[in-house]
Amino acid sequence: MGKMRSFIPAAARLFCTFCGAEIAAGEPYWAVNGAVVCEACLPEFARQDYLGCRCVRGREGRHDAS
Ligand SMILES: [Zn+2]
Repeated sequence: MGKMRSFIPAAARLFCTFCGAEIAAGEPYWAVNGAVVCEACLPEFARQDYLGCRCVRGREGRHDAS
């Protein structure tokens, strides 16, 4: 005999949009513009999202770094 306690059905499982890892119960994740980002992917996601804000110390205002 089993006791049912906070059982999560398979349909309610959540996966990271970037790496496909499952977001387990109790784990933090970020829901951004319909995407699901796990904690491991957040730094990479943030890098892409803020690419336009990227600066290099000492080269502020220069965009011809080629
Ligand atoms: Zn991920």
